[in-house]
Parts: sequence; C-alpha cells; structure tokens
Amino acid sequence: MKGYDKVCPLCGTLNKNLNLEETEGWMECEHCKEKVGFLDYMKMVKVPVYTPEMLTRMAKHPAFAGRKTISAIEG
Ligand SMILES: [Zn+2]
Repeated sequence: MKGYDKVCPLCGTLNKNLNLEETEGWMECEHCKEKVGFLDYMKMVKVPVYTPEMLTRMAKHPAFAGRKTISAIEG
C-alpha cells in the first residue's frame, strides 16, 4: 500500500501514511478530526465539497471574518 504524508491545512498536523487513492483524495485529520480533501488526488469529484463544519470553520477565519465585517460596514 502506498501511503501519502499530508499536512492538515486546518490545524497543521502531519497525517502520515494516508491512502488517498482509495478515499479519492479525502482524509480525516488525526488531530482535529476534520475531513480534508486534496484536489491533486480527486479523480472522480471535480468540485470540492465542503462539510458544514468546514464552512463554519472558514467563516470563523480572521480573513473571512474581517471581509464580512468590512462589507457589513460598507453596506
Ligand atoms: Zn487537522
């Protein structure tokens, strides 16, 4: 079995020996338990799919939160 080492983009934990080909590019981070998809390994799914948890996490990200605040002020 060929394993991949991938760093979780959400928490930075290195997840080792992942079988990305079998999961079509998805892994579940061993640290934050978030499901992360890697486009390089997605052959079936062209459009990235975000779980509600991921969207919530993205919305809380300072970059997104800041943008939201700015647009709210402008609007
Ligand atoms: Zn993680």
